[in-house]
Amino acid sequence: MGTILLVAEQAAGHLKKATLQALGAAQKIGGTIEAVLIGAGAGTSAQELATYVSKVHVVEGAGFEHALAETHSAAAAAAAKACNATEVVIAATAYGKDIAPRIAAKLGAGVASDVLAVVSPSQFKRAMWAGNAIAIVEITTAVKVVSVRATEFAVAQKAASLGTVQPFAVQAPVAKTRFVEFNEVKSTRPELTEASAVVSGGRGTKGDFKPIEQLADVLNAAVGASRAVVDAGWQPNDMQVGQTGKVVAPKLYIAAGISGAIQHLAGMKGAKTIVAINKDADAPIFQVADYGLVADLFKALPELSEEIKKVKG
Ligand SMILES: Cc1cc2nc3c(=O)[nH]c(=O)nc-3n(C[C@H](O)[C@H](O)[C@H](O)COP(=O)(O)OP(=O)(O)OC[C@H]3O[C@@H](n4cnc5c(N)ncnc54)[C@H](O)[C@@H]3O)c2cc1C
Repeated sequence: MGTILLVAEQAAGHLKKATLQALGAAQKIGGTIEAVLIGAGAGTSAQELATYVSKVHVVEGAGFEHALAETHSAAAAAAAKACNATEVVIAATAYGKDIAPRIAAKLGAGVASDVLAVVSPSQFKRAMWAGNAIAIVEITTAVKVVSVRATEFAVAQKAASLGTVQPFAVQAPVAKTRFVEFNEVKSTRPELTEASAVVSGGRGTKGDFKPIEQLADVLNAAVGASRAVVDAGWQPNDMQVGQTGKVVAPKLYIAAGISGAIQHLAGMKGAKTIVAINKDADAPIFQVADYGLVADLFKALPELSEEIKKVKG
């Protein structure tokens, strides 16, 4: 079995949970796992990553500071060649989706994207038609690139011994794109894809997210939204859950005023417990809900928040 290269993701020195879940997928493939970390702050998170893998290659410096697909994919492909990787694994986050196909092109590798399960080192399960069908795909090239739907995999096991951290020298290619600015939506709430609880609102909120936010704060939950909400401009699009938004798998997902369209379910049906609050008893969301409440969200959510506050003391 060859070496697996994990392309890790970090922001300002903080290792993304999705990377540790992608590593969980890499462990299922089996073999020696090395990792590459690219960008400003890579050195800081490398030590933590070394508790999981045998070797961490760190790419920092001019041309690599920002997550530009052109430069980061070049560094990842160079690292894959240097360690003779037979598999390159990456989380299918916005970053992973951006660079995985480019890495594959540079390596002449076949790619399986947004993988849900590892069947064998060359066969993977992936969703089709918004999760209505699951395909098993086989990559037949010598080098394989796999992007992983992180929420489908448990966080990796730590390695028995600490791995090494070493700088990886690579020349940044002359890029046709340049970094202009990074507009981050600042929030004191947990990140949507990493939160253990998510409270999401739909068109039923009519754009008033106060009851959603109050409940989220009582539960220390992230706030999500349906596409109808985002399309109406009521909430920013990085809060969208679903097929064309983020995929979440928290312990608790509360959907309020969301009908349960198939494209929304594609992003949240992996949640451990789903609670639906909708005033239409026939709303499809109730078909996937563990607990359903036929009620007006503007009455039910404040009551729920108050009761939880009492229980919490
Ligand atoms: C290619 C494609 C990709 C898509 N991707 C996504 C995606 O990623 N994410 C996504 O969410 N959608 C996505 N959609 C859109 C999806 O099909 C639905 O249109 C959308 O999810 C509907 O959002 P909603 O449930 O908020 O609104 P609606 O379907 O309008 O439902 C609103 C619900 O609120 C209930 N309601 C109203 N008032 C109240 C109240 N006071 N209290 C309680 N309940 C109330 C109603 O009974 C209703 O069930 C996609 C569509 C396409 C075609």
